Amino acid sequence: MALLRHTTPEIKERSALTVNPAKTCQPIGAMYAALGVRSCMPHSHGSQGCCAYHRSTLTRHYKEPIVAGTSSFTEGSSVFGGQSNLLQAIENIFTLYEPNVIAVHTTCLSETIGDDLRQISQKAKDDGKVPDGKHIIYCNTPSYVGTHVTGYANMVKGILKGFAKKTGAPNGKVNIIPGFCEPSDMAEIRRLCGMLGVEIVMVPDTDGVVNGPLTGTYEMFPNYGTTPEEVGTMGDAAGSIGLGRWATAEAVNYLDAEFKVPGKILDLPIGLQATDRFVDALRKMAGVAVPTAVDFERGQVVDAISDYIQYLHGKKVALAGDPDQLLPMVEMLLTLGMIPAYVVTGTGGKLFEERMNALLKDVPYPCKFKNGEQADMYLLHQWIKTESVDLLIGNTYMKYIARDEDIPLIRHGFPILDRMGHQYFPTVGYKGALRMIEKITGAIMDRMDRDCPETKFELQM
Ligand code: SF4
Repeated sequence: MALLRHTTPEIKERSALTVNPAKTCQPIGAMYAALGVRSCMPHSHGSQGCCAYHRSTLTRHYKEPIVAGTSSFTEGSSVFGGQSNLLQAIENIFTLYEPNVIAVHTTCLSETIGDDLRQISQKAKDDGKVPDGKHIIYCNTPSYVGTHVTGYANMVKGILKGFAKKTGAPNGKVNIIPGFCEPSDMAEIRRLCGMLGVEIVMVPDTDGVVNGPLTGTYEMFPNYGTTPEEVGTMGDAAGSIGLGRWATAEAVNYLDAEFKVPGKILDLPIGLQATDRFVDALRKMAGVAVPTAVDFERGQVVDAISDYIQYLHGKKVALAGDPDQLLPMVEMLLTLGMIPAYVVTGTGGKLFEERMNALLKDVPYPCKFKNGEQADMYLLHQWIKTESVDLLIGNTYMKYIARDEDIPLIRHGFPILDRMGHQYFPTVGYKGALRMIEKITGAIMDRMDRDCPETKFELQM
């Protein structure tokens, strides 16, 4: 029996109902971004259910402990305001857990009642609840605006507002805002910059925090993540690069407006062309030449594409996820000769439509895409029921469609609750492109092996 047996092939226009959303709410993105600051305790200012849910989702995604505090609103605080809860929480957290930084975000509850984080943080400092040398940073993350990607963007800006400075002495570094991607991706971005000989400050950086080793000793604050001192140098950088408009534009524009650090917003470097654009921007911003070792890695991707494109050409793919991931992914599929037949993202914005139209303008297939509230996995499933595809790319929630429709699924994006790998192996850069090509060809060829007649069951492919 089909798991999603209530999904009908007939599509009725919906204006109020969302089913199986391709998004989640702001605070989890803020929590994830805060984890990329060294010795930082994310703090959820609201009732504790949100914090428990967001911690558990990140734990299920990374299979790691995720630290975060909560103001634990009661009905009283929901009516009269959560100031005393937050002040008490700040005191408790610095006393009991001793982080260097508390990064406060809000929930729909504290946003609706209108708590003023700036004022409460100042009061905590004035009342001596913030020990010397320790910090409180904050951002507003109303869940009824945008998605988890918006929450990430807001917290990155909050981190910059808290720590970034300008001394006036240029340091020649490049600021990298890596976008909502995996710790493995952040590590790969750092490695690629290192290969080019470009000195960077990357914030946030969750590599080592949410994919660390098992040593026998639990460290609540591992010695990883960007330090406040490093963020403090970002106002003196030669430029900033943001990877993914939705997740990084706020931060890049802030650095430009506040410190006159020129910024460039690119796609996450997923696939050949987006990685080329990233390498080119780095080269220009830092005034370096691209070394042979980078050319070599690029050449391997070109070689892999030419070796396997015949298995991929014309194959149709349905995708769901975040816009910053989807746009370069669609571009990569087109480079592989594939057809991004259906694409949905719960994150809104007109720009997505414009970029998708530009990417798809020469595709000889009526591809469908939608973003915003009703662009959910229910709609994606309905499209698939009307005309099926060869491959699904998306998070774990897509496994229901995969099973019902008997279509292979490549897990990508957030969250992945039922497979490993995303925390350790990148999908960005040339190495990440090779990994994606391996996964895609593997899925398509496994299906060919399963379904082909015995006479076509080839040893050599
Ligand atoms: S939508 Fe609001 S109540 Fe629900 S988890 Fe997000 S912040 Fe909490």
